[in-house]
Amino acid sequence: MQELIVRDPGHLAWVEVPTPRLTSPRSALVRPIASASCDLDRRLIAGLTPFKPPFALGHECVAEVLEVGADVRSVKRGDLVSVPWKIACGECRQCLAGRATACTTVPRHAAYGVPAGGNWGGLFAEVVQVPFADAMLVTLPPGLNPLAVASASDNLTDAWVAASTPIATRQDARVLVVGGTESLGVLAVQMAVAAGAGSVDYLDDNDYRRDLARRSGANIEPGQVLDERYDVVVSATRDPHALHRGLLALAPGGHCSCIGIIFDDPKIPLFGLYMRGVTLSVGACNVRPHIRKVFDLVGSGRCDPLMVSPTVVSCDEATDALVQPLAKCIVVRERIT
Ligand SMILES: [Zn+2]
Ligand SMILES: [Zn+2]
Repeated sequence: MQELIVRDPGHLAWVEVPTPRLTSPRSALVRPIASASCDLDRRLIAGLTPFKPPFALGHECVAEVLEVGADVRSVKRGDLVSVPWKIACGECRQCLAGRATACTTVPRHAAYGVPAGGNWGGLFAEVVQVPFADAMLVTLPPGLNPLAVASASDNLTDAWVAASTPIATRQDARVLVVGGTESLGVLAVQMAVAAGAGSVDYLDDNDYRRDLARRSGANIEPGQVLDERYDVVVSATRDPHALHRGLLALAPGGHCSCIGIIFDDPKIPLFGLYMRGVTLSVGACNVRPHIRKVFDLVGSGRCDPLMVSPTVVSCDEATDALVQPLAKCIVVRERIT
């Protein structure tokens, strides 16, 4: 079968590899039909992360189920499913405590499309093995457009959790989204609006994303002085200075969700934050428990992820399209079930 790999920095290639087979009664084989680029992917392709090529790329997709092991109960051949980015068993202490990102049954950081905790393949490939089908896969409801939820595996759901969790405990929350990565900031604006924010401001110097954020319901001219104005800040930037500014924009009792990956150690203004009693959440999102809610939001039109994913290409076009400076790109493949 064909697998998409980062061959060397800046270059993608389809390569022939052995087709995966079921490895346990709990596993499933799926065929991605709509795979999206994550905001991390362009950095992975460019060689700007600690993860060095060659490796299989892709950790966001909707797939059709091809085959399931004897113990799999929740999905069957022909079902359309979201495949979460994280490999997790669903049964270890960490998984049962809701921390599937720290699953101890598999190597630490085990995930699709990133060579961090073993090789699990990438979600642009023709066939993917899902080792714990019942614990990982989430079935799409009938009628939901697979393209619109291709990113539910990661970015789209990450944006929902980052925005909605702190908004849920703050009435009429004043929200600032600090944009900067390709899609997460705009998605966070949409999710903040969907979660019932009192107001949403968007900070970014990129005109294209500013326009998307405005169309998503944000005020894009928040002004120069942001300090202590916001109950919730969603930081979707890789720029340490923008993160710093976002943190100081927190009002007393505020919360900052940091979802843009910064690979070095930026300066955190801890003294400036100390007397405000703020909280900061950082890190990989356990998307799986929230994917159904995201399906509801997309299905009911309360968010429009395709606004940031206007580029849809075939597998033949993928190696060129995925290296372009686009927001998000979706690679499609015909169904066979
Ligand atoms: Zn990602
Ligand atoms: Zn586990």
